[in-house]
Amino acid sequence: MDTNAVRDRLLKRRDELRQRASDASAEARHEADPLSADFAEQVTQRENDDVLGAISHSAQAELQQVESALRRLASGRYSTCAVCGEDIEPERLGAVPYTDRCRACAERGTGRGAPRP
Ligand SMILES: [Zn+2]
Repeated sequence: MDTNAVRDRLLKRRDELRQRASDASAEARHEADPLSADFAEQVTQRENDDVLGAISHSAQAELQQVESALRRLASGRYSTCAVCGEDIEPERLGAVPYTDRCRACAERGTGRGAPRP
């Protein structure tokens, strides 16, 4: 596997996500566009803030996964499934470069360690 290409791809993605998370939170703080004096308009703005908060939240969640993938890449465990220890399918890593588990474990759910009752 070409780890340099993977790392470049992950670093690029990390920059995009950081940018998106910081854009969304700057907009939600109304740095460029203060809350309107009109109440109905404020309601619309607050709804928009909820959407921005969700964007920022999902960007940050993906950012954490990307950063953890970069750490696994640095330690040589990038393509090892975090659950069963088998190799993660290369085509799966191509589709989801920050995944930490093989297809079988991903389909089994997110529980690590103890199986669910
Ligand atoms: Zn697995």
